[in-house]
Amino acid sequence: METEPERIDVPIRGRGWRLAAKIGCGGTAGGLAAWSAGLADGLLLLACASGVGLLLGGGWLARERRSRSALQALLRERGNQLAESEARLRLLADAAPFPLVMNRLSGGELIYANVRAERLFQTKLRPERALRVQDFYVDPQERERVAGMLRQGLGVRDQEVRLKDAAGREFWALISCSVAKSDKVWYVINGITDISERKALEHSLQAANAVLRRKVDEIEHLQQDLREQVLRDPLTGLFNRRHLDDILPRVLSHMLALHRDVAVLMVDADHFKRINDTYGHRCGDRVLGALGAYFSDHFRSGDIVCRYGGEEFFVLLPGASLDAAHGKAQQLCQAVRELPIQAEGQTLGVTLSIGLAVCPLHGEDADSVVRAADLALYQAKQQGRDRVCVAAPLSSLAQAERFVADGEAKAAARGRGGRRRPE
Ligand code: GH3
Ligand code: MG
Ligand code: MG
Repeated sequence: METEPERIDVPIRGRGWRLAAKIGCGGTAGGLAAWSAGLADGLLLLACASGVGLLLGGGWLARERRSRSALQALLRERGNQLAESEARLRLLADAAPFPLVMNRLSGGELIYANVRAERLFQTKLRPERALRVQDFYVDPQERERVAGMLRQGLGVRDQEVRLKDAAGREFWALISCSVAKSDKVWYVINGITDISERKALEHSLQAANAVLRRKVDEIEHLQQDLREQVLRDPLTGLFNRRHLDDILPRVLSHMLALHRDVAVLMVDADHFKRINDTYGHRCGDRVLGALGAYFSDHFRSGDIVCRYGGEEFFVLLPGASLDAAHGKAQQLCQAVRELPIQAEGQTLGVTLSIGLAVCPLHGEDADSVVRAADLALYQAKQQGRDRVCVAAPLSSLAQAERFVADGEAKAAARGRGGRRRPE
């Protein structure tokens, strides 16, 4: 601000004049006439002017001093304010409930770390020690990935990263970062949370889960084995009658709905008692095992072979027509007839009698189809064994049943109970 040139009023003794003087002005000389009369006054005036000059100079210096000290006071005050403001910011950052670190985006040089961050990283930031944020990443590629996201302007929120402190202790951290620009320089502000404990807990939980999963798998396998054991015949490994009773009604109704045939074969080993009687029960077991293996190998995967009981087998052929099933049964009969069976050092042979029935031709439910096949088997036995008999048409089934009932009654009268084939 421009100041008006200062004016100082100086009173002149005895004349009542008031002279105006400016800084730097000299005294005033009178005319010759006035010289003598005014000499004393002149001298006095000179002295006064000189005095005024001195006074003015002294005032300027004083003002300079005053304004300098005012400036210094102002600077001191601003400095104090700045220091207070920085202290407040530092307090704020240090009081943050998590470690905070600031670094340059480019190069990664650390600018600031709050107390919690210094404690976490076991180090102190000092101006003479240039630390870079990448020094604290376990995996440099991870740091590059985070920096890349920040450079692209993508925020980093709750990223789990592996960090290490100055002593080399590695730990898991959850970081969130944002970028800010000041004086054309980009800075990164990192909020860091040590999640090592949580991670350790997670890992132990995962390990416990893995153990549990293995146990559950083991139990499931055991259960599966048990289920298999419940459904399988231990001697031949084929499905047992329990399984057949379970699936047969479902297979029949399913195929009926699709208008597809289901053929069933009731297969019985001929004169099996003789094998047992001649070569022993163990040998008979071997023959049954060999028959079971042969059946398993010679039917399609969609066919279901069961050990029905004793030396009887039951084969379910979903989708097979009467002709196809008949051909298959005859092949089986012939193949087994020619099959040399090794049992207990003996080579044995066995023949089969097979009763064939088809759903819906011979019945539409499990009971009637099984009964039809059983009656057909009875006929095969009656006709001399080692053959295939097709079930009688539905209309004559009742008659066939009566015929079987008569035969069984005769057998019972001879002292042999149960369902019997002709001798
Ligand atoms: P058929 O031609 O009339 O069927 O005569 P079969 O001797 O085969 O029939 P029968 O019903 O008279 O006898 C069946 C025999 O099968 C008697 C029984 O001891 C034997 N058998 C049943 N189950 C087993 C088994 O698991 N192992 C052994 N070794 N023999 C068995
Ligand atoms: Mg038999
Ligand atoms: Mg039998």
